[in-house]
Amino acid sequence: MTTLKKVLLYSSAAIVLAAAAGAIFRPDAEVRVRKADKPAKYIFVMIGDGMGAAQVAAAESYLSYKAGRLGGEQLTFTGFPVLGLCTTYSADSNITDSAASGTAIATGNKTDNHYLGVAPDGSPLKSMAYTLHEKGYNVGIMSSVPVNHATPGAFYAHQEDRGNYYEISLEIPESGFEFFAGSGILDFNGKDGSREDIDKVLESKGYDVCYGLDELAASADESGVVVLPSDQKKEEALNYEIEHGDDAKEDRLGEVLEAAIEYLGDEEPFFIMCEGGEIDWAAHDNNVTELLDAISRFNEAVSVAYGFYLEHPDETLIVVTADHETGGITIGADKGNMIDWSGIEKDSLPEDENLNDKQKNRAFSASHNIGWTTFEHTGAPVPVYAIGKGAEKFSGRIDNTDIYAKVVCE
Ligand SMILES: [Zn+2]
Repeated sequence: MTTLKKVLLYSSAAIVLAAAAGAIFRPDAEVRVRKADKPAKYIFVMIGDGMGAAQVAAAESYLSYKAGRLGGEQLTFTGFPVLGLCTTYSADSNITDSAASGTAIATGNKTDNHYLGVAPDGSPLKSMAYTLHEKGYNVGIMSSVPVNHATPGAFYAHQEDRGNYYEISLEIPESGFEFFAGSGILDFNGKDGSREDIDKVLESKGYDVCYGLDELAASADESGVVVLPSDQKKEEALNYEIEHGDDAKEDRLGEVLEAAIEYLGDEEPFFIMCEGGEIDWAAHDNNVTELLDAISRFNEAVSVAYGFYLEHPDETLIVVTADHETGGITIGADKGNMIDWSGIEKDSLPEDENLNDKQKNRAFSASHNIGWTTFEHTGAPVPVYAIGKGAEKFSGRIDNTDIYAKVVCE
C-alpha cells in the first residue's frame, strides 16, 4: 500500500470516528479576528431590540403587500452583503434580557440577566465605546427609548441592577462621551423622586441638555450633548419613542442619527450605537401594527447610516443586529395559508372584556394569521447584517460576545 493510500484510509477512518463521537465544528484561530486588523474609521452598531429573523420577515412581507406583491420588498439592512446568526444566551439563562445581552455585545462578556456593564461578580466591564474613545473616536449613544434604558446603558454604565436608572444617568458625564440621545430619562428625580433634576446634574457636569433637535441646532456647546424630546417633562419620560407616527412633533430616530453624524463630524473617527428600542416593547405587547411601524423607523435610521457608508465606503462599518428575539412571532398561525395584511394598520382590536390589552393584540394578530408564542423574550438566535470595512468577520455562526472583538479588532 502506498503512503498516499494509507493517509487517505487513515483520514477517512478519522472522519468516521469523529462522526461517531458526535464531532462538532469548533472555530480555530484562522476564523478569529486577525490582530493586525484596524477598526473602521466610522462605526455604526445598530441594535433592533427584540428583532428576530421572523420580525424582519414580517416587516418585509408587509412592505411587499403594500407594493402589491407577495414578497420581494426589502429593508435596507437585509440587502447588506454579510449575514451571520448570533446566539444570545446570558450567563445565567438560555433566555437573555436586554441588560445581559447589551453587556455581551458591548463588552464581549456574558453576564447575568439584569446586570448592566458588570460581570456576575459585580466587577466593571469595558464596553467598545470606551475602548474606541480611548483610541480617539468620538462616541454617540442613542435610542428611540430612554437614554438610560438597558441597551444604551450597556455601552456606558456599570450597575448590578438595570433598574438603577438615576445612577445609570449619572454615568453619562462619567463616560465623557460626546453625544447622547433618547426618548427621555427614566427616574428624572430618582426612584423616590427626591434627587436633583437629572438635566441640571448633567448641565452642571458640562453637558448641554437639548430638548429636541431644534435646540441642538441652536446650541453652540461643543463639550457634549444629551438630546431629549421637546416634550420630555421629568416623570413623563415614558413616552416610548423619540417620535410616534408621521404627524408626530418629535424627532424621528433617523433624524437624530443624522444630527449625531453632523455633531460628531467626519474629521475624527466616530463610533455610534443606535437602538430601535420600541421594537421590543411592541413585541412584548404582541402588537403587530406597532412592531411593523417600529421596524420601519429603525430601518430609516439604518438608511441614514447606509447613506453615510456610500460616501465613505472604505472607512465605514455598519453592523445591524438584535440583542434577542421577543414574542416568538410566527408568520402563519393556525388559521390558514395566507397572511392577510389588509387592515393591519388599524387598531381594530376585538371587544372582549375577558381579554387584557396584550391578549387582544394577540387575537388581532391571529386574525391576520400572525402568531405569537410569548409576551416575553425567547432564546432564538438573531440575525447579524453587516456592510463595509471588516464586515466579513460577522458572517456565519457567532455569539453575541464575539461582536466586541470584531468591532474593535482586539
Ligand atoms: Zn424586552
